[in-house]
Amino acid sequence: MLIDSFDRKVDYLRVSVTQRCNFRCQYCMPEKPFSWTPKENLLSYEQMFSFIKIAIDNGIKKIRITGGEPLVRDDLHKFIAMIHNYKSDIDLALTTNGYLLKSQIKKLKQAGLKRVNISIDSLNDDTFTYLTQKNVLKNIKEGIEAAIEAGIIVKLNSVVLKGINEEEILELYEFAKQKGIQIRFIEYMENKNAHSKLKTLASFDILKAISKKHLIEELPVKENSAAKLFKDESGYIFGIIEPYDDSFCKTCNRIRLSAEGDLIPCLYYEDSQNIKDSTNSKEKMEYILKDVIKNKPEKNKWSHTSSTKKEDNISSRAFYFTGG
Ligand code: SAM
Ligand code: SF4
Repeated sequence: MLIDSFDRKVDYLRVSVTQRCNFRCQYCMPEKPFSWTPKENLLSYEQMFSFIKIAIDNGIKKIRITGGEPLVRDDLHKFIAMIHNYKSDIDLALTTNGYLLKSQIKKLKQAGLKRVNISIDSLNDDTFTYLTQKNVLKNIKEGIEAAIEAGIIVKLNSVVLKGINEEEILELYEFAKQKGIQIRFIEYMENKNAHSKLKTLASFDILKAISKKHLIEELPVKENSAAKLFKDESGYIFGIIEPYDDSFCKTCNRIRLSAEGDLIPCLYYEDSQNIKDSTNSKEKMEYILKDVIKNKPEKNKWSHTSSTKKEDNISSRAFYFTGG
């Protein structure tokens, strides 16, 4: 079992299989042109798998594949199958922008994928295109349908931004509810790579928008859930992810492996240790895993409280690098 210095059990590993992406979401990718890490500096699936086996043997129970956009690697199902065949009861999940999902979902499910989170921030073509810089909302909707039809557990993720998609909260909510899938609204986490003018909508305002039409009740905190969960009058459950709230880090159970092999204990901070040169040694990988968990920080510096310095609210970590 993996326990950090603040008595939190760490049993969730997020694995970024690539930094690359077919979108340029304003809250994730830099405005300026930038270069990708050369291929020789990235982990191969075999190297990632060597580490994953150690992580599972030490108590990791849930693995989420992320990126960049993980589905730009069209052989992803082979990697999913490697993990599934090693331990079939691992909770194996994927986070995707959904663009390439329709063509890959059957292979992914067959390989052992259990759940998929699809990011969709707008149901309006113009807003969607403005935010992602790709005019493909129709394909995302088809991806969502295909995942539901494939019988996989589907959730939607929506980052809510002031003045951009804040008027669409109810519409996104009803869209997910009507499909019988959970939606989680995410407060935008400020970071140096995002476009500078963006501002998050606080969870309070998200709830206010939904309360205009629905009677909402907060549910008891679920162990190891990043989202606060709420139920409406019909029993429909949705979530809000509040990184600016002090309680967000209290139940944090996760670490992240980047495509370069950086093992990252917290989404906010730059600290990490690289495993790339250690993937041929079980002992070295196990040592790094335990050391990173021992040094997992207590909490991030995003905060709604006025006592926090403005510059502290902006993380230097890139989301396309850590995988969110
Ligand atoms: N490309 C995939 C996708 O977009 O779902 C997976 C990677 S993306 C980095 C993972 C999640 O992080 C997405 O749900 C995305 O909306 C979210 N995300 C990215 N940048 C964010 C930010 N600055 N604040 C909050 N969420 C963010
Ligand atoms: Fe790509 Fe996902 Fe980042 Fe959007 S949030 S740019 S889809 S990695």
